[in-house]
Amino acid sequence: MRVVRYEEGDGVTRLGALTDRGIIPLGMAARSLSISPEYFADMDSFLSGGEAARISAEKVISGAPQSAAILISNVVLRAPIRRPGKIIAVGLNYRDHSLEAGAKNLPKTPILFAKFATSISGPSDPILIPPGDPQVDYEAELAVVIGKRGKAIAAANAFEHVAGYMPLNDVTARAWQFADKQWVRGKSCDTFCPIGPCLTTSDEIPDPHALAICARVNGVTVQDSNTSKMIFRIPELIEFISGGISLEPGDIIATGTPEGVGVFRNPPVFLKAGDIVEVEIEKLGVLRNPVVASPA
Ligand code: MG
Repeated sequence: MRVVRYEEGDGVTRLGALTDRGIIPLGMAARSLSISPEYFADMDSFLSGGEAARISAEKVISGAPQSAAILISNVVLRAPIRRPGKIIAVGLNYRDHSLEAGAKNLPKTPILFAKFATSISGPSDPILIPPGDPQVDYEAELAVVIGKRGKAIAAANAFEHVAGYMPLNDVTARAWQFADKQWVRGKSCDTFCPIGPCLTTSDEIPDPHALAICARVNGVTVQDSNTSKMIFRIPELIEFISGGISLEPGDIIATGTPEGVGVFRNPPVFLKAGDIVEVEIEKLGVLRNPVVASPA
């Protein structure tokens, strides 16, 4: 199932299922079928509802008439998760990216950092270049969305805690990332975490480590890899993170980027106003974000 948050022009964001027939508005369609709409008020209630919410949504999708479907061209898709409790990102988690970054050895344990939740942005929203143009770069990443609360989760049980997956662009101000001793400022600017276009539930993705992942700038492919190349895989990451940190529904793990980022090109290439950046992952969809300068 592909779950979206969308807006039809009335300023209200609703939860829907993206289907071949268009978007099924889950709350409205549930009410017309006399199915309780409690899980469909927003993404938080859907995720907290777990398997029961997903099964209920399947019933709504199969029962909804064609007349209930909304054309995707008539809506704006918003970030599937508006304000995650936390965004935990992993640095240098692809071998070739570690090498291009100059690492002498591959990391022995995951390198974690945080992105603030205010960096979240929608699948077609603009990426704002901060004042001073601090060398803004793209990073195509697979985002894991947590669906079930847990702490000290064993790797063997990790996938029980995963609700689904999305493309994510770990946009980074390189000048600030490298000037500060900590990456958080360079990684957390407003609009620096586009996600979407939908949350694809984990039942649709039996192997998240077999997905083509790429980035394009103005239509030119700049990253082209596969999630099979991660150094630390999703179960290991969840075990490592949850050893001391509770994971909760809606939390996002950004699993690292493959080679091909702009800063390590020769010469380096950074995003500029007018560019269009795309991040695409097989079976999960594409983010397409225009780059604009921050208003002075
Ligand atoms: Mg990254």
